[in-house]
Amino acid sequence: MKPVFRFAPSPNGRLHLGHAYSALLNADFALRLQGRFLLRIEDIDTTRCRPEFETAIYDDLAWLGLHWEVPVRRQSEHFADYHAAFLRLKGRGVVYPCFCTRKDIAEAIACRETESGQEWPRDPDGAPLYPGICRTMPNEEASHRIVAGEPYAWRLDMVALKKLAPGPYRFRRFDREGREEAVNADPWRWGDAVIVRKETPTSYHLSVVVDDALQGVTHVVRGQDLEAATDLHVLLQALLDLPTPRYHHHGLVLDPAGDKLAKSRQSRSLTELRAEGATPQAIWRRLGFGPQPTPST
Ligand code: GLU
Repeated sequence: MKPVFRFAPSPNGRLHLGHAYSALLNADFALRLQGRFLLRIEDIDTTRCRPEFETAIYDDLAWLGLHWEVPVRRQSEHFADYHAAFLRLKGRGVVYPCFCTRKDIAEAIACRETESGQEWPRDPDGAPLYPGICRTMPNEEASHRIVAGEPYAWRLDMVALKKLAPGPYRFRRFDREGREEAVNADPWRWGDAVIVRKETPTSYHLSVVVDDALQGVTHVVRGQDLEAATDLHVLLQALLDLPTPRYHHHGLVLDPAGDKLAKSRQSRSLTELRAEGATPQAIWRRLGFGPQPTPST
């Protein structure tokens, strides 16, 4: 069976050099391992994703010399798949509805920090762990609030999960030299993560594990900023009986000041670099992929 790689950008801004690196690296792995290269559009956030950004993704990647299989999977067309996965989690009793606003959470944490005199623990992204306010809410109260139309998210119940599915969890990591090793995953450090968002009928974590499995992705190549999220993905794969791909988390492309490139910091986009006269060859070289393009078939 051929290895399957994917590049999975979100069309909520223009691609920058960091995305180009991730896309080229995926295509390069696919070429060297005679695998397939897929493109997936991660557009579950319908308020921030825009059609013009999606079009720019196709244009920029084609300009870079990449070829991907069609049709491209667009997550916004597959909410039913994520809902089915969510129902399986619900059926296992490992999720609960959460009605908290950001303010409710911030106040509860401030209160606990004052009481204990200690800083409240944070998840790997630096956000405070959810303090469990809705975890013990009686079903009757939750149903009543849902019927009343109150907005709510669904969270993983890590307390229940630690008993029901304590692990240990592991995945395989691979590198560019063809080495592989088993790595321990620690999903618990994410606390009661949101698995279905208030405003979106899924979440990044749920959609990504469902799609990687549905698309037969065997090798996930993505930035180090998503490395810790893999621990949660491995837990979800186990709960949903999905295979765990192998993972490679690459270093991030930094700007001259040593900061991570990000759409929010106005880093120059590929579109802008093109308009300024950059060539695809110059981009490959700059990212360490020269001198020839590395399209996969
Ligand atoms: N859509 C995510 C992003 O643009 C990447 C998801 C992934 O590769 O797992 O950051």
